[in-house]
Amino acid sequence: MAKSITILKIDGDGIGPEIISAAVKVIDSAVGRAYKSNMKINWLTVPAGKAAQKQFGSSLPKKTVNALKKYRLLLKGPLETPVGKGIRSLNVQMRILLDLYANIRPVKYMNGLESPIKNPERIDMVIFRENTDDLYTGIEWPYNSREANSLRRFINKEFKVHLDSDAGIGIKPMSKSKTERITRKALEYAIKSQRRSVTIMHKGNIMKYTEGAFREWAYSVAANEYARKFVREDALNGRTLPKGKILINDRIADNMFQQIITRPESYDVILAPNLNGDYISDAAGALIGDIGVLGGANIGDNGGVFEAVHGTAEKYAGMNIANPLGIIKAGQMMLDHLGLGAASELISKAVDRSIKEKRVTKDIARYLGSKPLSTSEFTENLLKKINQGV
Ligand code: NAP
Repeated sequence: MAKSITILKIDGDGIGPEIISAAVKVIDSAVGRAYKSNMKINWLTVPAGKAAQKQFGSSLPKKTVNALKKYRLLLKGPLETPVGKGIRSLNVQMRILLDLYANIRPVKYMNGLESPIKNPERIDMVIFRENTDDLYTGIEWPYNSREANSLRRFINKEFKVHLDSDAGIGIKPMSKSKTERITRKALEYAIKSQRRSVTIMHKGNIMKYTEGAFREWAYSVAANEYARKFVREDALNGRTLPKGKILINDRIADNMFQQIITRPESYDVILAPNLNGDYISDAAGALIGDIGVLGGANIGDNGGVFEAVHGTAEKYAGMNIANPLGIIKAGQMMLDHLGLGAASELISKAVDRSIKEKRVTKDIARYLGSKPLSTSEFTENLLKKINQGV
């Protein structure tokens, strides 16, 4: 009997509706080609973002929250987050709702992109960013709030620590259990995907009991639960890594930024707390020349939200020129997560072929010197390739 699976989709703000529509067509076509009538995706569109605010008076309506709790799988267009005021990030709300603690962002060079570095073909990293701890928990107060004043007094009285009266206050919680579960996800992935190394990125020299603890807890998981597979860099003492083993090491966050630029080939799986992970994934994305082509997944023990790394690119909204590759890549991660790798593989081949032929959207065509395709022309071209088996 034919199998079907229900997946939610949120069109999103800005260029969201155009790129989501492209991704859904490409995914459906690849699933159809790879699994014939044995598998079908039922897409269920749920409202969120600016359009939902207008129509339902809420940017994350109750019906969307209920659907998320029920179906737990979502392909999501980008959603706008105002800076310094207004609603809390909808993306963060959804991650917390479904406890999607692992933000996974693969960054691999694609032939044809104009990278700012000399040997971009050496870039093949997968970033595991912790999603539910750290500064993104959003525990912060304006400098002149009752809470900030009260905390200032408390800290001063109890710990004799002075905080400036005009300082806003944020709290940075980092817990052992949350560090351990993201570490397990990263290590399991490294084993399953036969990666060479896992690097823990932290600022533990300065923030010893949060970032420093992240490093210690991550190493402990590797030692206590995966010792048969992982070898610490400092235990090697310059010897070569034994065959079949995976290296685990750590780097201080600022060093990590220069390392991925000067020696990208030395970095493979990167395990980072929330804020470091956010920064490093955009920086790594820039190395391949275009963050518009990167997809990401937010995964928990039960469910996942799949989305492009880029945002709403408002200035291109409604113009049919945005690049849908980021959300298509996210869709591929969703297919892999669901065990539909054959469909994902077909999409990869179609995308690689399109880039090789320089049949791409404006953001890439400007570097390749080719005539840019619109979003819909680019999508049609991918569909044609998929339908012909590439
Ligand atoms: P952005 O929307 O990613 O856009 C920055 C620039 O990147 C664009 O001006 C454009 O560059 C290029 N770009 C991004 N995606 C593209 C695509 N698909 N096709 C072609 N070009 C693309 O970043 P932002 O301006 O910082 O953020 C705007 C809003 O998006 C903010 O409200 C932010 O909070 C939100 N956001 C949401 C998510 C999410 O929902 N997961 C993620 C990130 C940001 P050029 O000008 O060089 O052409």
